[in-house]
Amino acid sequence: MIVLKSRREIELMRQAGRLVARAHQIVRGLLRPGITTAEIDRHIEEFIRSHDAVPSFKGYRGFPASTCISVNEELVHGIPGRRRLRHGDIVSVDIGVIYRGYHGDSAWTYAVGDIPAEARRLLETTEQALMAGIAQARAGKRLGDIGHAIQQVVEAAGFAVIREYVGHGIGREMHEPPQVPNYGEPGKGLVLRPGMTLAIEPMVSAGTWETRVLGDKWTVVSADGSLTAHFEHTVAITDDGPDILTLP
Ligand code: MG
Ligand code: MG
Repeated sequence: MIVLKSRREIELMRQAGRLVARAHQIVRGLLRPGITTAEIDRHIEEFIRSHDAVPSFKGYRGFPASTCISVNEELVHGIPGRRRLRHGDIVSVDIGVIYRGYHGDSAWTYAVGDIPAEARRLLETTEQALMAGIAQARAGKRLGDIGHAIQQVVEAAGFAVIREYVGHGIGREMHEPPQVPNYGEPGKGLVLRPGMTLAIEPMVSAGTWETRVLGDKWTVVSADGSLTAHFEHTVAITDDGPDILTLP
């Protein structure tokens, strides 16, 4: 069952989303060679909890941290730890917040210092794909329009869309129906309606679209070790078009 949100609920989700966006601003300020991913996680957890909010991921199916931090070939669900970021890494940081019962969810892939041109192009393409997907999040369009727009941008750049992980509805639960694939056919799938709130989140590989999970049972990597990127916003479909809720 897809839960449509009232205006009041969307405003509560915007407050959660604003905290997520501010947490990302903190991440940007922290990123430098030598910092550990656990230090970033600790700062973000403190920020979230000091604003009467709760990190969505901590304890979710036993996940041990407040953020997912995934470096280079790691795509999603990386566990923060002792790893030190290095000049030239790309690092995906996924942050979820529960505020007054509602979730916000946003991920961004950052460059640590100067990164190779191909990595830069991967980041730019995945961000563009996110924005192309969001542009389709309009009443009367269909889920396939979102996925198709994302896939077009990614594949035109010679990169691959991850198939095994997808976006999702979001609200009182972090993961609600429907699933929001990053591929699809225009004009196909569920019709989008005002009040739907979706986490749109292209996950892109510079090589194969296939993935595997590491021995920690969480960290998802590209099967061939290629660099990967992940950009995500929480978006409400309104009568006036897409409304990005995870902005500062
Ligand atoms: Mg996320
Ligand atoms: Mg998500």
